[in-house]
Amino acid sequence: MKTNCIFCKIISGDIPAYKVYEDSYVLAFLDIAPVNPGHVLVVPKIHSSNLDDIDELMLGYLMKVVRLIGRSMKKSLGANGYNVIINNGAVAGQLIDHCHVHLIPRHPKDGLTPWPQAKYKDDEPRKLAAKIKANVIVC
Ligand code: AMP
Ligand code: ZN
Repeated sequence: MKTNCIFCKIISGDIPAYKVYEDSYVLAFLDIAPVNPGHVLVVPKIHSSNLDDIDELMLGYLMKVVRLIGRSMKKSLGANGYNVIINNGAVAGQLIDHCHVHLIPRHPKDGLTPWPQAKYKDDEPRKLAAKIKANVIVC
C-alpha cells in the first residue's frame, strides 16, 4: 500500500466504494464520475503506478477479471459492448497513480464519439513502424 494513493485507500477500506468484484489480487468498483452508467475501474491490489510497473502475471490476471466484468455488463446492464481503456501516464490522461483499467459499458447511440483520426503522409508510417519495431524488447 502506498500512502496518499486513493485506490490503495479504497482497497484497504479507508475510502468507500461500490465494489462489483473482489478477490485476493484484484478489486473492481464503480468509477465515481462515470462516462456511462456502470463504468467500472479494475485495479490490482498491489500498488503499481502504471502498465510499465505492473508484474506480468498480475497483468494477465487483471485482464482476465476485466473480461469477466465485461461479460457481466452485457448480461446485467444489457450493454452491447464495452470499452477497455488504460490511461498510461499523465500525458495520456492518467490522474490516479495506481494502475487501473476502465471498463465502460456501451449502448447504441449512447453519444460517446470516438477519438478523431488522421491520415499519414508519404513515408511516415514506414518510418514510424520501423522505429517502434526496433525497440520492442521481448523479455
Ligand atoms: P484516470 O484518469 O485514468 O487516472 O482515471 C481515474 C478515475 O478514477 C477517474 O475516472 C475518476 O473519476 C476515478 N476516481 C477518482 N476518485 C475515485 C473514487 N474515490 N472512487 C471511484 N472512482 C474514483
Ligand atoms: Zn495505490
